[in-house]
Amino acid sequence: MGVHRCRMCQADSVINMRQHRLALCEVHFVEWVEKMTLSFIKKQKMFEPEDRILVAVSGGKDSLSLWQILLKLGYQADGLYIDLGIDDGCDYSKRSGEYVRNFSQNISSEAQLHVLDLAGVYGKTVAEMAERRKGGRKKLCSVCGLVKRHEMNRVARELGYNVLATGHNLDDEAAVLFGNVLHWESEYLLRQSPVLPADGLGLVKKAKPLARFYERETAAYAIVCNIDYILDECPFSVGATSLRLKEVLNSMENNSSGTKLQFYFSFLRAKKDSQFPECKRSELSSCEKCGQATGAPGMCAFCRLV
Ligand code: AMP
Ligand code: ZN
Ligand code: ZN
Repeated sequence: MGVHRCRMCQADSVINMRQHRLALCEVHFVEWVEKMTLSFIKKQKMFEPEDRILVAVSGGKDSLSLWQILLKLGYQADGLYIDLGIDDGCDYSKRSGEYVRNFSQNISSEAQLHVLDLAGVYGKTVAEMAERRKGGRKKLCSVCGLVKRHEMNRVARELGYNVLATGHNLDDEAAVLFGNVLHWESEYLLRQSPVLPADGLGLVKKAKPLARFYERETAAYAIVCNIDYILDECPFSVGATSLRLKEVLNSMENNSSGTKLQFYFSFLRAKKDSQFPECKRSELSSCEKCGQATGAPGMCAFCRLV
């Protein structure tokens, strides 16, 4: 392997992205990430400068980078951290929250941080909510996902934001796609998208502006920009299916760079070109308690849970 040089300035200390056949120095890499994010936001019609965006920030590299990028691009973006009360001997939620608070204190802008303390509002942490359900840790992750989705949407709606943005990266999206294909989840496949419109039934518009970046690219961005983020994964995610799907995709990527990018973008293209048969979506109605969309009559899964 020869020495790589920045394509823009010929510097020889670079971030080499084999998957794009592109090497860039730190300065040009940061510029590239921000430029590519902006063009993805525009191409996917995610939001406009006049929109009020709520960024869901977990304290990890992806969502903190996303918040910083949106502010640098001039968007109106506030943050939301949900304290799920995850401890498991390592104070996970407490420490994640500290990274988010530190970050928000250091950003020089008008941006606000909202913090939602789950136990404060519902009297229970996410683990306590999951206790009533059988199935151990796997159940816990699905309850946690349900709670996060519901609460992010509720807060966005109540505070008048018209877009909810999350930090999902390409590795996340490719793993979800892989799982949906393995189980041929046609409804999930139809709905999997970097942008989902508001549904008129209480769901706000959702956007994933970093979905085109590899996890190692968002990590490199955070490191180069000196963003201090929590390195640990959630203690409950050990052995999670999504991590195993990621491992398989990573080993394929190692043999053939660009696999994940190709997998995800070919899927988006196929959907856009209507190569997917229109599958009937189940009828949705409004939850009688919180008003958000639900497939079941009566209360939504979240309201039944709490
Ligand atoms: P995860 O579901 O943990 O893979 O995270 C995916 C995205 O959800 C992150 O990039 C964040 O945007 C958001 N997110 C995850 N956990 C939290 C949290 N505790 N509070 C706010 N946003 C979160
Ligand atoms: Zn350069
Ligand atoms: Zn409900």
